[in-house]
Amino acid sequence: MKQILALLLFAGLTISLHGQEEVIQLDWDELGKTKPWVKTEQWDPVPTKVTPGFLNAPPSDAIILFDGTDLDAWHKPKYDYGARMDHVESILAWKTSNPSFSDAEWEVKDGMMIVSPGKGAIETKQSFGDVQLHIEWLAPVDPGKKGQGYSNSGVFLMGLYEIQVLNSYENATYSNGQAGAMYKQHMPLVNASRPPGEWQSYDIIFNAPRFNEDGSLEKAATITAFHNGVLIQNNAELSGPCVFIGEPYYVAHPEKMPILLQDHGNLVRFRNIWVREL
Ligand code: MG
Repeated sequence: MKQILALLLFAGLTISLHGQEEVIQLDWDELGKTKPWVKTEQWDPVPTKVTPGFLNAPPSDAIILFDGTDLDAWHKPKYDYGARMDHVESILAWKTSNPSFSDAEWEVKDGMMIVSPGKGAIETKQSFGDVQLHIEWLAPVDPGKKGQGYSNSGVFLMGLYEIQVLNSYENATYSNGQAGAMYKQHMPLVNASRPPGEWQSYDIIFNAPRFNEDGSLEKAATITAFHNGVLIQNNAELSGPCVFIGEPYYVAHPEKMPILLQDHGNLVRFRNIWVREL
């Protein structure tokens, strides 16, 4: 009934805007013979049923990347991430032609994994394209540190596109390099950081870039992200890999690539990491 009233109200408003006096009267008995509303009902496909997780616990269809017990889903790549575009290109060429790995050497303790400074980045054994990713991280209290040196790590989608991990609670740095920034490309919409010593979360929706057969870009990568449940990236379009030096540009790469976590020399902790392929 409410819908019918809303319809009548809308029709009335439309007509009064056009200066007419009569309100359209819908003949529901007549409409009931043909049921025109059925045309706009979409019944197929039926969305797959998923049991939602409690709080940040993984939903039933998630791929678990870290549940607090071991690094079985991860290994250490021979090289990690590129700091400059020519560096990115050389790493990509290696990754796609001659990949080699050793065991991930980060510490697992008390349900979390801890960056082992100097032991290098770790990367998922599985490759991913478009994903929903949940990851929790903690910047340990470390009063001597500041700026980019205070609990720096990073989540690199496809090993190339970094959402920055950093203590950005009362710790100044460049906006497009603070926590939640798509590094050097998009600052977060707001700073939703919790103080160091507290667990924080990222929930990320990432759409991988698409490339044409000749290697040119068909569609840029986009990212939507929530930091502690707050929207910080709203369908932000990336200009290419996130690099430390110089301007980014796209280099064609496989449809699926591993997710990489950065060793930036700080004892950042991670836990409860899961992903859903989109
Ligand atoms: Mg970083």
